[in-house]
Amino acid sequence: REQAKNRPDWLKVQIRTGPNFKDLKNIMRGRSLHTVCEEARCPNIYECWEHRTATFMILGDVCTRACRFCAVTSGRPSHVDLLEPKRVADAVVAMGLQHVVVTSVARDDLEDGGASVFAATIRAIRERVPNCGVEVLIPDFQGNWDALRVVMDASPDILNHNVETVRRLSDRVRSKAKYDRSLELLRRAKEMRPDIRTKSSIMVGVGETFEEILETMDDLRAVQVDILTIGQYLQPTKQHLMVEKFYTPTEFLRLRGEGLKRGFAHVESGPLVRSSYHAHEQVLRADGV
Ligand code: SF4
Ligand code: SF4
Repeated sequence: REQAKNRPDWLKVQIRTGPNFKDLKNIMRGRSLHTVCEEARCPNIYECWEHRTATFMILGDVCTRACRFCAVTSGRPSHVDLLEPKRVADAVVAMGLQHVVVTSVARDDLEDGGASVFAATIRAIRERVPNCGVEVLIPDFQGNWDALRVVMDASPDILNHNVETVRRLSDRVRSKAKYDRSLELLRRAKEMRPDIRTKSSIMVGVGETFEEILETMDDLRAVQVDILTIGQYLQPTKQHLMVEKFYTPTEFLRLRGEGLKRGFAHVESGPLVRSSYHAHEQVLRADGV
């Protein structure tokens, strides 16, 4: 297989640091919290933070898995910090966030995979900022559906779980996760709480075909996923999975059209789209606003 050539122009981001962005950066300092925005060096950080949207990573920054596309450190995580939900809620207040995404590394070392900490974080944010949209991007909890129920019972606005890639490439791209188990998680989440929107993401450019992306869309619609995001995979370091193809903005538009045709309430599709990109707008649009 061949490595794709240099990054095309449409992947270059303009650095614009507005007043909100600087504010939020200062607020984050000294709180011992992690944001995916900063740690994944997300190219959208200026735009998202200006719009008062951020993604927190709870349960530490060491993952028990090692997916081939992911820059998070893998190893043995440390203890669970029970004060973290409160600190996240405090930061949401201080940052004046209107939409917050809460995610975590995979904590396969914990009995409930960290579900109770997700639930506590949702509740802590709700208590402090009742009108802030709360989205959780959860790991698969190794198929522990009781753990999933704990999260659903805390009533997030959006339950997000990523399939990341098409069926054929799943085992190669993701570590320990299973394509069908992820679909089952999304199916059960909708079954438990039909009133909560479900969401999933795929990254493209790791060797999938166009047809396979469409099949993945069908698989996600079959379990009634409401919101889909599609973005370009970018290689975080030379040791990670290589990029096999850079999709053009036109191809992303076509994928968006295919998604909408299949009945997703909202599809965010573009070169720089990340799971939490425009997360706030996704809620509004999926609501038909
Ligand atoms: Fe943060 Fe997500 Fe926005 Fe990236 S897309 S800056 S991770 S909120
Ligand atoms: Fe990264 Fe998540 Fe995979 Fe862990 S489970 S390596 S955080 S993508």
